[in-house]
Amino acid sequence: QLEQVYEPLNTKTAIELSKNLQLFDLHDELTAEEIGDGNLNLVFRILHIESGNSIIIKQALPYAKVVGDSWPLTLDRARIESESLQRTYQLVPKLTPKVYYNDPKLAVTIMDDLSHLIILRKGLIAGHQYPKLAKDIGTFLAHTLFFNSDYGMNQQEKKIQSSRFINPELCKITEDLVFTDPFFDHDTNNIEAELKSFVEHVIWADQPLKLEVAKLKKLFLTKAETLVHGDLHTGSIFVSQEETFVIDPEFAYYGPIGFDIGAFLANIILNYLSQDAHLSDQPQKKAEFRQYLLDVLTTTWTVFEQEFTSLWISYPQDAFMKVDGFLEQTLADIWKDTVGFAGCKVIRRMIGLAGVEDVESIKDSPARIAVKKQALTLGKHLILNRHELTTIDKLVKVVSSNA
Ligand code: ADP
Ligand code: MG
Ligand code: MG
Ligand code: MG
Repeated sequence: QLEQVYEPLNTKTAIELSKNLQLFDLHDELTAEEIGDGNLNLVFRILHIESGNSIIIKQALPYAKVVGDSWPLTLDRARIESESLQRTYQLVPKLTPKVYYNDPKLAVTIMDDLSHLIILRKGLIAGHQYPKLAKDIGTFLAHTLFFNSDYGMNQQEKKIQSSRFINPELCKITEDLVFTDPFFDHDTNNIEAELKSFVEHVIWADQPLKLEVAKLKKLFLTKAETLVHGDLHTGSIFVSQEETFVIDPEFAYYGPIGFDIGAFLANIILNYLSQDAHLSDQPQKKAEFRQYLLDVLTTTWTVFEQEFTSLWISYPQDAFMKVDGFLEQTLADIWKDTVGFAGCKVIRRMIGLAGVEDVESIKDSPARIAVKKQALTLGKHLILNRHELTTIDKLVKVVSSNA
């Protein structure tokens, strides 16, 4: 047996790998296609035409492509992604692709093919509603965030598990691109000319805002509550009318419970704001779809809160979990963190390195700039007022009155 050394796969070697692993028969006729969107990773779909059976091979590249340039990026994130997917599959198997094989040296994960579903961001931009989405994501959040935390896992075991998810390079990306660079005139920012002076006045000149963001960044750096997904935007979720799956946890690490919840809510909010332009000539449909998105916000949090509460009562790991008021205090803290992180995520998508298609695809320039200004104003409001926005209803009211 040859020692495997890292090399980026191509369609030919991807097929060879899947045959060597006996995922298919040697004489099967297979096709391979690279379907990734290609800044950090390769994604191959391997299809056995005769049976229609297929798998996905995801491989990390040892660098990230950023605006024509590239910076080195650890392959260990592929191991972390595989191990996170496998752990998550134990907790919520209906919402997680099954991993069939992983190889840290090749930086490869082989998993279920979900091509029969659509990436949520694309579906929402097209104005499609997904009736199971909010309940599924609320359940996903409650089960993963509870059972990987000191509330739902043996506290010694949690310390041991957390050592497998030390992810310094991917955390650094979030630390810089979400919490720092957008709040300063940094060269990684990507700001439309017409927006520049607005950003200078509304974001960069606001010292109280920066103080609040510093506190939120400190939480991201220090609050090792649970194993978070770390990149739970609407591009990391596959959906249909019947199913929901969460992919792409390469940013997983032990962080605050509110981080994943905030990421998801922020991306729903950004789609909500973008629909002002996408559906501008269909006021009836716009109102309906926006109401659906507000319901997604409400149901996601409500289901999370209910499920988290019932898990807390059923599986207490600590005597203090039965003390009156501790659950309520914990949920209030999670919510406050959620609102603050959502605000940071909204802002960074408007002026940071990576935009979102929901907004960038608005072709009419004044309409796009208007949406970005609304988003920046709203994101800032969430960060500054997270202590007062104590319920999901208050958040929904702010989102719907802001736009
Ligand atoms: P990245 O980390 O580079 O963003 P993702 O895991 O998000 O990689 O995958 C990039 C794209 O590849 C997805 O948007 C989707 O189109 C496709 N893809 C990834 N995983 C699967 C899967 N299990 N089944 C089908 N398509 C997938
Ligand atoms: Mg991508
Ligand atoms: Mg992705
Ligand atoms: Mg990714």
